Amino acid sequence: MNRENVSLEKLKSREDCTALGERAYEFVREIFPICRSITGEGVRQTLDLVGQRIPLTRYEVPSGTQVFDWQVPLEWNIRDAWVKDSSGRRVIDFQKSNLHVVSYSTPVRESLSLAELRARLHSIPEHPDWIPYRTSYYKPNWGFCLRDRDLQALREDRYEVCIDSTLCAGSLTYAECYLPGASAQEVLIFTHVCHPSLANDNASGIAIATELARALGDSQRALSYRFVFSPGTIGAITWLARNEHNVGRIAHGLVLGLLGDPGPLTYKMSARGDATVDRTAAHVLQSLGLPNRIVPFSPYGYDERQFCSPGFNLPVGRLTRSPNEGYPQYHTSADDLTLIAGEHLAESLYACARVLAALDGNGTYRSTSPKCEPQLGKRGLYRPTGGKGPGPFEHALLWVLNQSNGERSLLDIAERSAVPFDVLRSAADALLAAGLLTESVMEASPT
Ligand code: ZN
Repeated sequence: MNRENVSLEKLKSREDCTALGERAYEFVREIFPICRSITGEGVRQTLDLVGQRIPLTRYEVPSGTQVFDWQVPLEWNIRDAWVKDSSGRRVIDFQKSNLHVVSYSTPVRESLSLAELRARLHSIPEHPDWIPYRTSYYKPNWGFCLRDRDLQALREDRYEVCIDSTLCAGSLTYAECYLPGASAQEVLIFTHVCHPSLANDNASGIAIATELARALGDSQRALSYRFVFSPGTIGAITWLARNEHNVGRIAHGLVLGLLGDPGPLTYKMSARGDATVDRTAAHVLQSLGLPNRIVPFSPYGYDERQFCSPGFNLPVGRLTRSPNEGYPQYHTSADDLTLIAGEHLAESLYACARVLAALDGNGTYRSTSPKCEPQLGKRGLYRPTGGKGPGPFEHALLWVLNQSNGERSLLDIAERSAVPFDVLRSAADALLAAGLLTESVMEASPT
């Protein structure tokens, strides 16, 4: 496989995605060390690296900008942070892990007793070797996170504390990769870029979205695609506030994240529950033969919360492996490069590629020969020797011919027949070539 130039059409099996899964893993490894937050240089550095792989347009939204009920916050950047004991030893050191500092910590330089210090420390007693990931975006505060084992080892002492951060007027950064298709109707792919050194949440989503954009860039596209790389929550809210006039063109959407762990693929329905993307994802995941779960919408999770808020109610679902808070390592230092694997990323990429191919390839047709079955054998579409039942492709031909009345889409037929969408798509193409189908003039409803 040419690893530099792979269209969606070439990602037809799990094996076709193996090399891209490894490449996605390498990208996760590259962006993993960066200290990201909802604003700041970490986001920009990450987008620089994404932008080396796909064409990106970057947007900077100034601090203080009103976005619905929220405001874009001050920009946060950090250079160093530590806690030293009286001997000068760094007992907590940001240079060893950026998870050690509560994200958005205000600048601090103080001397504290152990009791005063402890009030600022976060650990996970049930997992004494893991550093928790904590944030304080909207309440000025500071703190450190550390292994509980290290916390318990702290002795009575005077501790010197330094957080060399800045919280200043700046901007919130997000970026888009827009890939126009034959139709202006869009598929929105949204992934958050605001977590520091956590591999599954959210480096895996960034890497998968990047690979998908690369593959789509080399594909024929019926629909247009807009990939948004943005901080979570405030970034999604900001994007919606700035694009409110454009959301009507979103025909389908997917929030991507948590795509590298060993958990089963999990699709979370949009709030609508019956959007084409919901039906497509459910059909594709079930037909791929991979472990999967389809879960209903709930108003907690990732940025589907914003896209599916009642004022928008967009057809946007979410694809993860384990869901947020659905694995013990979630939001801890154990969400590292050993939790994820190229094979899981490859499988996630495969699933995403097939869902997008089915969204892109859906269509509604009319049989030109609806009175009795047309004779497929004389058109080279049916095996010459009778007596045996139809093979999978012939089965698909019969379903498409029987159901294509100008109103039912290929997705409708896939759901009714349980024949995988890809096989129906190939059958429809063969029937179109043979003149046995025509495209229905009725526009398929996008949602
Ligand atoms: Zn998270």
